[in-house]
Amino acid sequence: MKILITGGAGFIGSHMCERLASEGHEVVCIDSLITGDKKNVENLNIESLNQDIRKPFDIKADLVINLACPASPIDYQKYPIETLETNSIGMKNVLGNAIKYKMRVLHASTSEVYGDPLKHPQSEDYWGNVNPNGPRSCYDEGKRFAESFCMNYNKKYKIDIIMARIFNTYGPRMRSNDGRVIPNFINQALRNEPITIYGNGKQTRSFCYISDMVDGLIRLAFSDIKFDIFNIGNPNETKLTELAEIVKKLCASDSKITFKPLPQDDPVKRKPDITKITKTTNWMPKVSLEEGLLKTINYFKDVGDKKYGR
Ligand code: UDP
Repeated sequence: MKILITGGAGFIGSHMCERLASEGHEVVCIDSLITGDKKNVENLNIESLNQDIRKPFDIKADLVINLACPASPIDYQKYPIETLETNSIGMKNVLGNAIKYKMRVLHASTSEVYGDPLKHPQSEDYWGNVNPNGPRSCYDEGKRFAESFCMNYNKKYKIDIIMARIFNTYGPRMRSNDGRVIPNFINQALRNEPITIYGNGKQTRSFCYISDMVDGLIRLAFSDIKFDIFNIGNPNETKLTELAEIVKKLCASDSKITFKPLPQDDPVKRKPDITKITKTTNWMPKVSLEEGLLKTINYFKDVGDKKYGR
């Protein structure tokens, strides 16, 4: 198949490009490089273009996997307008291109559509609890708008669209400075610097290793589903205080644990209900938190900073 991957030079995108290219697909990667890095895909046998989805494009393929968007809170808060435009103008361009060539669409949505959820764990029928004008709204509301765009284009133009609400994902090729909790904790622990927990650390996240994420997304992309929405993530819920201790132990670190103010609107709990994707595609995450963290620690230790000079 010929597959277009938007945001292909980013964290999830580059793993997706690598996996699909290794399976013999013809892959075209487009990326604005606002938060992506062309080094992530330069050694792959794929076509890679510097193209921002906010600008019109014309690329024929069988399937588009729309992963383009800053995803780390510090990134999308640094680029709020770009984030809003990516999920509106960019989404329209992705869908317009897909209609033109009758392409199937797998759109990456997010657990952030649930905001600071009042339902736990979160299932797809929950409408969410989102602050429409808070610091996270460019991403949360942007992704909610993008979902509505997908749903209405599916109704009107009858193209196949699957939406995957991605929960916290981690692994090699995250940027050490992207501000998310796992790269922060690992790099702090490796340098024996204080590990910074925001708030009291009792908030939870459920972390999915990248290979599991890519596997689940590929199952959705290659399914015969015409239109639907799925949570995708690892339901193993972890408190941040626990995460800090695990990272410290796995890095054999002497870091102290310090507490900093909790950012505004930081969700208290997050855990996916993955009943729907498991029933439909048989997908279940396989990589345990310790196993995934060890691989990520090795990446940051051996390759990350040295290779990219970050
Ligand atoms: N966090 C933290 N220390 C850090 C970075 C993040 O305690 O150095 C917290 C953050 O406040 C949130 C959780 O870790 O409660 C996950 O944050 P992240 O930015 O990774 O992703 P989010 O799930 O909030 O989008």
